[in-house]
Amino acid sequence: MAIIDGAAHHHSHDHMVHQHRAVQGGTARAAVFGISDGLVSNVALVLGVAAATSTAGSGSAVIVAGVSGLLAGAASMAAGEYVSMKAQNELIERELRIERESLLSNPKMEVRELAAIYEARGIDEDTARDFAEAIHEDIEVALDVHAREELGVDPNDIGDPAGAAISSFIAFGIGAILPLIPWFITAGVAAMVASVIVGLVAAAAVGWALAVFTERSIIKTAARQVGWAAGACAITFVIGSLLGTAIS
Ligand SMILES: [Zn+2]
Repeated sequence: MAIIDGAAHHHSHDHMVHQHRAVQGGTARAAVFGISDGLVSNVALVLGVAAATSTAGSGSAVIVAGVSGLLAGAASMAAGEYVSMKAQNELIERELRIERESLLSNPKMEVRELAAIYEARGIDEDTARDFAEAIHEDIEVALDVHAREELGVDPNDIGDPAGAAISSFIAFGIGAILPLIPWFITAGVAAMVASVIVGLVAAAAVGWALAVFTERSIIKTAARQVGWAAGACAITFVIGSLLGTAIS
């Protein structure tokens, strides 16, 4: 069909654009994922280091490792977020540039394309063409409408990579600090137990929040999160204990 032929040049990245929108729309959900990442990675790190250094009886090694783990993980998350959002923005800007060039070089085809979109929605041929022609009287209006109708993006609403980087740094940091808190107060087995309890309770809370976003069973989702956290703790605890015995 003519519509498909005409529109093909700027439809190749539809999928990515929709993903981008989903991410943009889910700031709270992204924060919960960040907290979850920080929590699971640091509760496991803290437990591994605690198990390896338990003979020393001091919490300072755990605190050093935990704070390093927090900063390293948060920085890596922030960098990853920045790079991916920057790339998505550049992709959208590229799509808009192609669309603008097409609007300038091939306006008749673009009018037909837009009219076809309205027709597909049930508007009669003449009205659809008149409407499309009216929109095309101003290229900025036309670009805006084509971007929304064909690319599914609001050209005025491009993601903020620096903001996303800062948010993911903070979210990871919040998750990562939780299992460390007991170590600022006490040490040894008491801190270890408290760390695991804090970690599992927070994992359950993360599961609850995710269940709210995804509208799935709260108990199942929370149990799954707790399972992941507990599994990560068990692995690093065993490996930490073995390492501690091997190197001491
Ligand atoms: Zn177009």
